[in-house]
Amino acid sequence: MSSRGVVIIGGGMGGLSAAIALRQAGLEVAVYERAEAYRPVGAGLSLWSNAMRAFDALGLAGKVAGVGASWRETVMHRCDGQVLSRLAVEELCREVGQPTVGLLRAELQQVLLRELGPDGVHLGAACTGFHVEGEEVHVTFADGRRVTGSCLIGADGLHSVVRQRLFPEVRPKYSGRTSWRGVVDVASEVIPEGSQFEIYGPGARFGICHLGRSPEGTWRMYWFLLAPAPEGGQDAPGGHQEAVLGHVRGWMEPVEPLVRATAESHILRTDIHYLEPLPRWGEGPVTLLGDSAHAMVTDMGQGACQAIEDAVVLAKLLRQDSDRVRALRAYEARRRPRTAHIAALSLRSGSIRYLRNPVARWGRDLLMRALPPSVALQQLRLAVGFDFLA
Ligand SMILES: Cc1cc2nc3c(=O)[nH]c(=O)nc-3n(C[C@H](O)[C@H](O)[C@H](O)COP(=O)(O)OP(=O)(O)OC[C@H]3O[C@@H](n4cnc5c(N)ncnc54)[C@H](O)[C@@H]3O)c2cc1C
Repeated sequence: MSSRGVVIIGGGMGGLSAAIALRQAGLEVAVYERAEAYRPVGAGLSLWSNAMRAFDALGLAGKVAGVGASWRETVMHRCDGQVLSRLAVEELCREVGQPTVGLLRAELQQVLLRELGPDGVHLGAACTGFHVEGEEVHVTFADGRRVTGSCLIGADGLHSVVRQRLFPEVRPKYSGRTSWRGVVDVASEVIPEGSQFEIYGPGARFGICHLGRSPEGTWRMYWFLLAPAPEGGQDAPGGHQEAVLGHVRGWMEPVEPLVRATAESHILRTDIHYLEPLPRWGEGPVTLLGDSAHAMVTDMGQGACQAIEDAVVLAKLLRQDSDRVRALRAYEARRRPRTAHIAALSLRSGSIRYLRNPVARWGRDLLMRALPPSVALQQLRLAVGFDFLA
């Protein structure tokens, strides 16, 4: 890559989407990813219509939707099976003109990698730091490699090295909850196709989402559990399934059978951290993108969606302005308020989902049943219907 090129650190969904968008904007770009290889397994992911709109701007919405399953309705339940509320997600999809899709992360990664081409990502490249000299940024890697570019995009996730160099005082905060995520192929539909289930129990939330049909014709399902846990807690070896069952025993069907059917190797445990909104995302020719800039709790399923929005807006502004530093500041000015708003909404919606006190839960359930669905949909509209490209 020439010293006019853009260096992206991190080949997650944000980094890969940014690389595609920047290339389409006519920029030379290279991605440096710490992992030695992309793993074929992994958890599921929901992409709301706003992310699909961003992919549409890259000409990729059809390919992305093609590897997943769309859903039309989210049904919220109490853990004994009582329906609390129904969200007509399809209404928002119609407004935005894009579906909401559940898919395997690994399959989304493959779509993006194919689009980028074989030379798009340098694997096994762990960034250790950078320094700016004049109009150039010099980036260093653990294996001694050095790369020079005209811009550096830190898309290296929650524990970003680029962010640590820019803002050493910033530390991710622990949400107090951990997550377990599983993917399993089952012979029958389990929940109606086109539905996503959310199930609330004391202090915990379970979700179920379709990922489409497997090549063998079975139903591929994604589930997740969020529950309180001390930071850094671990399950005994081979003990993910037992740990999940410990939280959801006696919950409505199909929670337990779905967890029991999931291979231990297809369950992941991850603590949920988030960042307080940063006052700045960068300086000079350096900026941040995705979780490195705005990691958020998962309660609106918007972390990756926002990273993909970031990518499209960044490319648009770099295409419009040949002064790259000015374009980066314009990108930050556009994206900081939007992502801070979504992060705050996510925290707020989390605060009512994990109630433990029975009286507080009774009150919440009553409210959820009484609230017209249009009110809940309105909050989602702020996240999903916002015109981030305007
Ligand atoms: C349980 C859970 C469920 C979630 N569900 C959803 C959902 O349904 N919908 C949604 O939109 N979001 C969801 N999210 C959030 C989503 O996973 C993240 O927001 C998204 O992955 C952020 O993408 P990213 O590319 O910014 O960061 P990452 O996906 O973390 O990618 C960062 C990449 O940088 C690489 N890297 C790190 N350090 C270096 C280094 N020093 N040098 C080089 N490379 C490096 C990493 O290996 C990684 O590949 C969920 C998150 C969790 C934890």
